Amino acid sequence: MLLGLLYFVAAAAAARLTRLEGGVACLWIANALLIAVLVLMRPQRWGAPVTACGIASLCATGLFGFGWAGAVPFMTINIGEVLIAAALLQRFGRRDAFESMRHLGVFVLAAGVAGPAAMAVPAGLVAKLLTGTALWPNAVNYFLGHALGALTFTPLFTMILVGDARRWVSAAGGRRLLEGLVLLIAIAAVSYGVFAQHRLPLLFLPILPITLATFRFGRLGAVASLMILTTIAGILTAHGMGPLRLIDASPIVHMRYLQFYLAATVLTILPVAADLGRRDRLYRKLQESEERFRLITEHASDIVMTTLPDGTIGYVSPSIVQLGGYDPLKLVGRRAIDMIAPSDHEHVRAEFLRALDAPETTVAFEYRAVTADGAERWFESNVRAMVGEDGVVDGVISVIRDIDRRKTMEVELARAAATDALTGLANRRAFATAFDRCLNQGTACGCVAVFDIDHFKRINDRYGHDAGDRVIQAFAEIALRHVREEDMVARLGGEEFGVILPGVEPAQAQEICERLRRALGAEAIEVGAGHTVSMTVSAGVAAFSAAQDRDAVMRAADVALYEAKGAGRDRLVLAA
Ligand code: GH3
Ligand code: MG
Ligand code: MG
Repeated sequence: MLLGLLYFVAAAAAARLTRLEGGVACLWIANALLIAVLVLMRPQRWGAPVTACGIASLCATGLFGFGWAGAVPFMTINIGEVLIAAALLQRFGRRDAFESMRHLGVFVLAAGVAGPAAMAVPAGLVAKLLTGTALWPNAVNYFLGHALGALTFTPLFTMILVGDARRWVSAAGGRRLLEGLVLLIAIAAVSYGVFAQHRLPLLFLPILPITLATFRFGRLGAVASLMILTTIAGILTAHGMGPLRLIDASPIVHMRYLQFYLAATVLTILPVAADLGRRDRLYRKLQESEERFRLITEHASDIVMTTLPDGTIGYVSPSIVQLGGYDPLKLVGRRAIDMIAPSDHEHVRAEFLRALDAPETTVAFEYRAVTADGAERWFESNVRAMVGEDGVVDGVISVIRDIDRRKTMEVELARAAATDALTGLANRRAFATAFDRCLNQGTACGCVAVFDIDHFKRINDRYGHDAGDRVIQAFAEIALRHVREEDMVARLGGEEFGVILPGVEPAQAQEICERLRRALGAEAIEVGAGHTVSMTVSAGVAAFSAAQDRDAVMRAADVALYEAKGAGRDRLVLAA
C-alpha cells in the first residue's frame, strides 16, 4: 500500500515535472523503487508489490500523464521493464551492486540498459499513437529517462530498504552527520546555482562536491548526491532553465543533452564508489589479518625475525627473551650474524644466500647461536625471502626454533651408540668406523693389535661374572694409560680388544703392545670379597697401509692372535 502510494507520487511527479511537449517523461524514478523492492524478495512474492505499483502507474498516467487511454499500455510497459531488470538482477547480480566491479556491471546492464532498452520502442509507439509525436525521439527519451532514473535511484532505495542508510546514520557521530548534511546542502546549492542560470556553461561544477561526497561518505554519499543533482537538474531543465539553453536547439535536444550529462556523471561516480568500497573492505581485512598475525608472532614459542637486505634485524618477536635472553627492541638494527656462533658463520651465510636465490622456497638449517649470557645453543631456522611488489627482495623472514635439547640428545645418542657401556671404550662399530677413516687417509699407515684375555672363562667361573666384568674394566683402564692420545682402544666384544696405532712402525708397535701386555699381567685387580686376580693376555699385531681392506687387516691380526694362543698364551705375535 505504502509502496503503491510512493510509486504513484514518483510517477505523478515525473509526469508533471519532467515531460516535454506531451512526450514521455525525461526522468523516471518510480521504477527504481519497485526494482529495489523486488530484488530483495523471492519471485514467488512479487505479486503484491507488482499489483500495487501497477495500479499506481495506471492512476498516475491516467491523471497526470497521457490520460486514461494510455494508462494500460504504459502500466504494461513500466511493469515489464521492472520485471526484466529485477529478474536479471536476481539471476546474475547481488543485492549490493557495490560489492565488486562485476556486480556493478551487472546492475548497470540489467537496470540501466536491458530493462529500458526492451521497452523503449513500445513506449515510443504508444506515445506516437496517443499524441501524434514522433516515435524515435520518444523512444530515446524513454530509454535515457528510465535508465537514468533506475541507475541513480535504485541503489539509494536498496540502501534504505535493507537498513544500510539507517545503520550508517546511527553509527555516524554528530560531527560526521553534520559534515554529510553540509555536503549535501552544498551539492543541492551548487546544482541549483548551475541549473537555475543559463549564462555560463558550469556543468562541471557539481562534479566537485559530488566527488568529495563520494570519497568522504562512500557509496551512500555517491548515490545521495547523484540523486540530488539528477532531481534538481532534471526538473529545472524540463522547465526550460539551465546552462543547456546555451545550445541553440529545441527543449527536446536540451533534455537529451542533460540526460547524457547525467548518465556520464552517474557512470563515473558509481564505479569510483564501488572501488572505494572494495578498498575499504580490503583494508579492513588486511588490518584484521595483521592483527591476527601479530597475536600469533607475539605469543608463539618460536622466534619470528625479519632481516633487512643489509643483514640488520628489522623485527624480532618477544620470544627471543625466553630463548636467547635478548631484549627484542635492542636487537633491531643490529647485525643478525653477530648472534651466530663464529664456527657456523659460513654455513649460515650460505643458507641465507640459498634462500635469497629462490624466493619462493623455504630453506631450513641448523646452527649454533650465542645467547645473551655468552653460551652457545642449537637453533633451527626456516627462512624465506620476502619479495616486494616490484619483485625486488626486501628482506628475509625467519622462524627460529630452539633445538638445543634435541641436539644434545642426538649427540648423546650418537655417543651411546658408539660406546661400550661396561668400559666406556669405543665399541666394535666405532672401531670399524675409525679404522676405515684411518685407512682412507691417503698417506695413512700404522699398526693394529687385537688383545684377548687368557682363560677368561676361569675368572668367571671362579669369582663370578661381576668379577669378570671388573677384569674387563681393568683392562680398559690400563690400556688407556699405555697408549697415545691419537691411538684408539676399543672393546670388540667379550674380553677381546682392538688397538689402532696410526703412524707406528711394526717394531715400535710390538714394543708398545709388549709393554701393555706386561703392565696388564702385573696388575692385581680387586674383584670384591677381598679377592684379587691377575690376568694374562695374548695379542696379534698387524701392520696396515692406506687403502687396504679393513677385514683383511683384522683377519691378519686375528690369525696372529690365534698363533699366540696356540703357542701357549701370554704372548704377542706379529702378523707375517
Ligand atoms: P682363551 O684363552 O682361549 O681366550 O680362553 P677363554 O676362556 O677366554 O675363552 P673364550 O674367549 O672363548 O671365552 C670368553 C668368555 O668370556 C665367554 C663368556 O662367558 C665370557 N664373557 C663374554 N663377555 C663377558 C662379559 O661382558 N662379562 C663377563 N664377566 N664375561 C664375559
Ligand atoms: Mg679369552
Ligand atoms: Mg675371547
